[in-house]
Amino acid sequence: MKSKKINLKAWLLTIVFMIIFLPLAWLLFIRMEGEAPSVKLLPQKSAIGISQTIQIHVSDIKSGIKQVRLICLQDKKETVLFERDFSSAGFLKGGTDHTSDVDVLFEPAKLGIKDGRAVLHLAAGDFSWRKFGKGNRTEIQKQVIIDSVAPEADILSRSHNIAQGGSALAIYRLSEPCIESGVQVGKNFFPGHAGYFSNPDIFLSFFALNHTQGKDTRIFVRAVDAAGNNTQAGLPYYIKGKTFKKDRLNISDRFLALKMPEFKLSDSEDTGIDPVEKFLKINRGLREANFKTILKISQNTENQLFWKGAFSRLPGSARRAGFADHREYLYNGRVIDQQVHMGIDLASVKRAAVPASNSGRVVFCSPLGIYGKAVILDHGFGLFSMYAHLSRIDVKKGQVLAKGDILGKTGRTGMAGGDHLHFGMMIHNTFVNPVEWWDSAWIKNNVMTKINDVKAGIK
Ligand SMILES: [Zn+2]
Repeated sequence: MKSKKINLKAWLLTIVFMIIFLPLAWLLFIRMEGEAPSVKLLPQKSAIGISQTIQIHVSDIKSGIKQVRLICLQDKKETVLFERDFSSAGFLKGGTDHTSDVDVLFEPAKLGIKDGRAVLHLAAGDFSWRKFGKGNRTEIQKQVIIDSVAPEADILSRSHNIAQGGSALAIYRLSEPCIESGVQVGKNFFPGHAGYFSNPDIFLSFFALNHTQGKDTRIFVRAVDAAGNNTQAGLPYYIKGKTFKKDRLNISDRFLALKMPEFKLSDSEDTGIDPVEKFLKINRGLREANFKTILKISQNTENQLFWKGAFSRLPGSARRAGFADHREYLYNGRVIDQQVHMGIDLASVKRAAVPASNSGRVVFCSPLGIYGKAVILDHGFGLFSMYAHLSRIDVKKGQVLAKGDILGKTGRTGMAGGDHLHFGMMIHNTFVNPVEWWDSAWIKNNVMTKINDVKAGIK
């Protein structure tokens, strides 16, 4: 009898608990939840140009988003850039939207907002019943600078003659600090560098036309300021066409037997592979991977003109292959591959001492796949020279070499049949014809006269 009474009491208590406490809990933890919406405003940069897309991201997992408002404040003037009220899923249910991504096109001048300081203010509220039904609210502010003025680029160098596969120099002055500027050559961009002139607004940009870019390539100076305003300035230029040689190389069984063991593929690939197959993998895949490594190295350069006068070629050497030679590789009379030779092959005596072609800093000195033991020098402002197939390297990374300092000895490491030096030159990300850089008259006409004219002009 007693236990029945207790049971009844427990039941009653449970029912009371369910009737009073559960709705209370629901009210407190669900409908009156205290979690404010999370908001994000992008992009993070604080400069805003003529036109800027502002991305708003709002999320409110519990009650749902009720409203979002973005305004711009300047001199106590308030301009609404975006405002939206979201719908409710029903009196007891909160909002229908829990996340919202909006792109707002902000064009300050069209809204009467002046250049200078301003504040972006983003507010979002949710459908919670907290604060007497007002809900939770998140507000963020961001100080910005409105800048509607595009930079100007004044081209200081007068003529720009460039051959296919050749190099050129442009000198320009910017009207304001820019996050990026340089010479656009077709799809390729060559960053300009300040630092040569004491005026920090004057930039040097060495640029190149690769061996495949023809006479219809568009070349101009491009600059972008922190607010994203960009400008293009025309450059007087003349493109000289050039035809490159064709060359055929016989890949003999002797060459394959001699060279292929030097290259390692992955263990599974390397066992029982046909030597011709292996050659193709290396001549294509490894060549490409090596070029990517070179590209990474040539991204960093010093804003210092290390070099002076003509670059030197390997003393007492004969040219074995030219720049941009189109090579066909033959095996048993059949063409098995084609590549373009992006340097000049020079042969002297075996193990000839290799001097630095001009002053520069050693930025690479290691084995590099098809290039064998290789050294790369940074001559400053994006100009590099490369020495490949060496039998030994006698310099260390970071060392500054004077023109003529011995950096190693010629050899036949990497994809080389006989002892020779593969000499390459690069501007930023493009291999260029070294012949121009060996020619003191070319350097005088295309580089030094321009620099000296600008120097004389700004005095
Ligand atoms: Zn070569």
